Amino acid sequence: MKKILLLIIFLLMSRAEAAGTWQPVIRVGILSGVKQVSLQVSAPCIMINAAKGEVLKKIPEGGGLTVDFAHMKINAIEILPEKVPLKDLQVTIDGKKYYGGVNVSKVKDSLTVINLAPLEEYLRGVVSKEMSPSFPLEALKAQTIAARSFALKNRGRHAKDGYDLCNGTHCQVYVGVANFDSVDKAIDETRGEVLVYKEKLIDTNFHADSGGMTEDVGDVWGTATPYLVAVREIIQLAAPWTVKVTAKDFSSRFGDNFGDVQSIKLSKLTIGKEAEDRTSSGRVKSAQIVGSKKTLTLTGNDFRRKFSLPSTLFDIKLDGDEIIFTGYGRGHGVGMSQIGARDYAKDGWNYKKILAHYYKDTKLKKLY
Ligand SMILES: [Zn+2]
Repeated sequence: MKKILLLIIFLLMSRAEAAGTWQPVIRVGILSGVKQVSLQVSAPCIMINAAKGEVLKKIPEGGGLTVDFAHMKINAIEILPEKVPLKDLQVTIDGKKYYGGVNVSKVKDSLTVINLAPLEEYLRGVVSKEMSPSFPLEALKAQTIAARSFALKNRGRHAKDGYDLCNGTHCQVYVGVANFDSVDKAIDETRGEVLVYKEKLIDTNFHADSGGMTEDVGDVWGTATPYLVAVREIIQLAAPWTVKVTAKDFSSRFGDNFGDVQSIKLSKLTIGKEAEDRTSSGRVKSAQIVGSKKTLTLTGNDFRRKFSLPSTLFDIKLDGDEIIFTGYGRGHGVGMSQIGARDYAKDGWNYKKILAHYYKDTKLKKLY
C-alpha cells in the first residue's frame, strides 16, 4: 500500500515537473534583408540544417561565427544548445543578446534572422519595455498576462515572413535580454497564465491612462467585443492635461477654404456621460468647427492626430485668440489602463482583480 502511494506521489511529481518546464517557443523576427550576420553563443551549441535536422557543426561556449549570404549553401540553419535547455542559452545577434536559439534563413537575395525564444524568456524582454519595472508587482503581473496572451493569440501573425512576431511596435517591442528582478518575479509568479473569454484567448489591448473611464472598442475601431467595453475607474485619476493652439494656427490647419475659426460646437465633457457627439465614456465622437467660409465636422481622432492630443477625452474652448483643449488620460482608452493598474495595485488589488476589472467576463487560464 505504502509502495503504491509512493508510486502515485512520484508519478504526480514527475507530471507536475514536466508541466513546469515545458513552454512554447516563439519565433521572433530580429533582422531581415541583411547580407550577413554575426552570432555568438553563451553555451555549447550545435548548428543544424533547419530543413533536415542534420548537425553541420558544433560551436563551443563563447564561440561565434558570421553567416554570409554569399557563402551559404543551404536555405536555413539553426543554432540550438547541445546540453542546456533552450531557455538557458543566450545568443548574441550582431552584438545584441537574446534568449534561446537562432534561425538564419535565405529569403530571396538576403538573410532573415529569427530568434527562437522560449515564451517565458521572451516576456522578460517585452514587459520591461511596455511598463516601468518600478510599478508595483501586481500591476507588472497584469501586464505580463496581457503580453503573454497577446503573443499566443497573435502567434503566426508574420507567417508569410517565416516567423511568429516581429520585435517592434507592430507586434510587441522585444529588446532581448533584460534584467529586472521585479519583472522576472511577475513572470515567474504567473507562469503560463493567459486571459480567455469563453475558452478563447482574448485581445489584451492596453493603453497608458484611461483618464477616468476606459473606452468601448467598438467606438474606437468599429467592431464591438464583449470583453472590451467601457469601465469606470474606481480610483479617480490624474489631473487634466491642456493643449493650446492660437486661433490663427488652428484655422490654418483646415486650408484656405475654411477661413478663420468662429466657434466650436461640442457638448461639455462629463466622464461616463454619453451624448450625440460623445461616446459612452465621454470621448469625442465628433465636433463641428465653424469657419468664416465653411463649417467642418471632425472626429475625436481627427483632432487627436492634427493637434497631437494625448487622448480623445477632452473639451475644446475658443478663448479670445486661443483654442484650448482640456482633457484626461493618454492613449486610445481600450482595455487595461497601465496607470489605473498601478494605482489599483497600490490600493491593494491583486492582478486577478485588476484584469477582471478591465477585461469584462474573462477568465485566467494556466496553459502550462
Ligand atoms: Zn509585427
